[in-house]
Amino acid sequence: MPRTALVLGGNRGIGLAVARHLAARGDRVAVSHRTGEPPEQLFGVHCDVTDADAVNAACTRVKEELGPVEVLVFNAGITRDRPLAAMSAEDFTAPLRTNLVGAFHGIRPVLRGMMRAKWGRIVLMSSTVALSGAVGQTNYAASKAGLIGLARSLALEVAGHGITVNVVAPGYTDTDMVAAMPGAQRENLLATVPMRRMATSDEIASAVGYLTGEDAGYVTGTVLRVDGGLGMGH
Ligand code: NDP
Repeated sequence: MPRTALVLGGNRGIGLAVARHLAARGDRVAVSHRTGEPPEQLFGVHCDVTDADAVNAACTRVKEELGPVEVLVFNAGITRDRPLAAMSAEDFTAPLRTNLVGAFHGIRPVLRGMMRAKWGRIVLMSSTVALSGAVGQTNYAASKAGLIGLARSLALEVAGHGITVNVVAPGYTDTDMVAAMPGAQRENLLATVPMRRMATSDEIASAVGYLTGEDAGYVTGTVLRVDGGLGMGH
């Protein structure tokens, strides 16, 4: 059954792959973009997820154009890497504002509609780093671990309303975020991945597709690692 889906942070990288995957299965898909133009053939809404009013307005537009949001994928994320000893308060809080508080901004406007409909799928994009930690990423890891606590608590709150809340935890994935790393650092990181390669965005999108589909109605509060074995045991 086609659903209305919103991917927050859906204009490039993993978010765009998720949006295209959901569109390919027949969902009515909206994506948010903070910069640039919306991707072709997808309904775009402009918003910065750190701005609650802008996210509310974006959700209202999606509802008017495509119907109430039934599938929410919160994908927006940033890094601000440096060792904690050299980290300013702004460096620490910027990823929290986007990656964690942004998820709260995204969920709040759509949750009541899902509760009324007695059906909903929420997926939050975390990272294996949330489980294992990473040097230089205390801020990012805290934000991504926070998403797991958020998802599990919300999963308990809304389970009786037919809404599932899950987390996808990708490992290294071939996007702009990883392309920004120096080549030698990338090679060293890949040597730690059992599958010795990065994920493609489509591989992450498939996992989101499963968790947001009709068949995953009994899967909630879970963390699905898609990381080539990197975070095994966590
Ligand atoms: P990219 O850097 O390629 O894309 C980031 C996305 O987040 C863009 O759509 C960007 O929009 C959006 N975004 C960032 N800040 C904001 C904001 N304040 N408001 C609205 N949108 C925002 O990242 P990836 O595709 O690699 O990553 C996607 C998600 O997956 C992130 O949450 C990331 O943390 C997570 N992840 C990525 C991994 C990887 O190896 N790539 C590994 C594990 C997790 P815009 O283009 O407008 O800036």
